[in-house]
Amino acid sequence: MFNKRKKINALLQSDEANYEATVMGWVRTFRNNQFIALNDGSTNNNLQVVAELGLLDDATLRRITTGACIKANGHIVPSLGKGQKVELKATSIEILGDSDAEKFPLQPKKHSLEFLRENAHIRFRTNTFGAIFRVRHSLAFAIHKFFNERGFVYVHTPIITGSDAEGAGEMFRVTTLPLDGSAEKNEDGSINYKEDFFGKSTNLTVSGQLEGELAAMAFSDIYTFGPTFRAENSNTTRHLAEFWMIEPEVAFNDLEDNMNLAEDFIKYIIRYAMEHNADDLAFLSLRLEEEEKAKPQAERSEMGLLEKLNFVVNNEFERLTYTEAIRILKDSNHNKKKKFQYLIEDWGADLQSEHERYLVEKHFKKPVILTDYPKDIKSFYMRMNEDGKTVAAMDILAPGIGEIVGGSQREERLDKLLARMKEMHVPAEELDFYLDTRRFGSCPHAGFGLGFERLVLFVTGMTNIRDVIPFPRYPKSAAF
Ligand code: ATP
Ligand code: MN
Repeated sequence: MFNKRKKINALLQSDEANYEATVMGWVRTFRNNQFIALNDGSTNNNLQVVAELGLLDDATLRRITTGACIKANGHIVPSLGKGQKVELKATSIEILGDSDAEKFPLQPKKHSLEFLRENAHIRFRTNTFGAIFRVRHSLAFAIHKFFNERGFVYVHTPIITGSDAEGAGEMFRVTTLPLDGSAEKNEDGSINYKEDFFGKSTNLTVSGQLEGELAAMAFSDIYTFGPTFRAENSNTTRHLAEFWMIEPEVAFNDLEDNMNLAEDFIKYIIRYAMEHNADDLAFLSLRLEEEEKAKPQAERSEMGLLEKLNFVVNNEFERLTYTEAIRILKDSNHNKKKKFQYLIEDWGADLQSEHERYLVEKHFKKPVILTDYPKDIKSFYMRMNEDGKTVAAMDILAPGIGEIVGGSQREERLDKLLARMKEMHVPAEELDFYLDTRRFGSCPHAGFGLGFERLVLFVTGMTNIRDVIPFPRYPKSAAF
């Protein structure tokens, strides 16, 4: 067997020494023709591989360059160097893959995040992105663990959807019809989608919620975790055209149960990452500290990354209604001094991210759950409150990010749901399958959508969403 190797993470975690081991990985640096810093991605920490003078011929030494892949055999011995308990004293080194030092995009120096985004195919091999994507993995794993421990069924909702009434955003069309104008037309000049692959117009999903609700009406507790797509021209640091969403849907939950679930869930997965990715988060915390030093004092965050994560898992989220939030915003000095781009004047206004961030970062200084929004700024499926003006919606707002979760108790009463759909011009014919849940054994239920990348942003302390998904898709960019 070729791959009889020890992972660097396992080697470094143990104090054990004086045994034989084989390691494989990529060279980060090579000093004094002797000391190789080797990384295999299992940890942010490098293993020091020592090639004693005379072990290798000149030709081999020249091939140990940053980026090259090597296999090293030798003895694990206690290290005299700082910062590591053990190192590998090599008895043989084999070059598995050369890397031309002149051409390899990563040099042993600091690169800008922009440069690394352009070289996303290779950025996995940096400390920063190694840490980010190991944390991303842990969060994804913890999500499944959390729901599995609570008896939720993981449901795969379709990526290609036939309903264009999901209502969560602009959709990407899926078609095999020719784009050169030769596609068959109807009498009124519109495209005849009967000729298209699925015999109808189809899109990439913007949310799995509607299908998730169908499953919740059988399993009680379900969640989805999959890619979603939005063709919005949002060039922000918080929007992607392709992102992953987690959408639990729970029968017999009301809005308060929904908030409790969301809060427990977020705390659980953050705790999991803190326990399992301590080194990565410590590294990212230092990275953030460095980045913040470049900012003016007033713009720096009050807490470091680890401090912030600890604070979030150990404190309750602030819960208040939209109406209370509007009062706070309207009375704020920020509003009075016209510091908001969009001034808050009347009840009913949609909150912009500047308002959300004011509430979270300036006023409460902790995550906030806003509930009971005006019905006109929310989706048709949210449950109408007694007042006839607001719906049982909840958004969770996180420091530095803004909206991270959007959810609601769903309207389970058929007549009320139909009335809302009519008011909002949602075509009932197209959603007949959805309405069936209200016709046959309807029940109170609630759910939410959490944008996975926004959560990864929050946990890693990164500031641009394009840096927390391996190959980001956004307007005018689908590289790799
Ligand atoms: P926003 O107002 O920030 O655009 P939204 O109201 O469109 O969000 P929802 O439709 O409620 O968001 O989607 C649920 C969750 O999915 C959001 O809370 C957010 O975490 C995430 N999300 C929404 N749009 C995007 C996007 N374009 N890129 C990444 N995550 C997103
Ligand atoms: Mn949006």
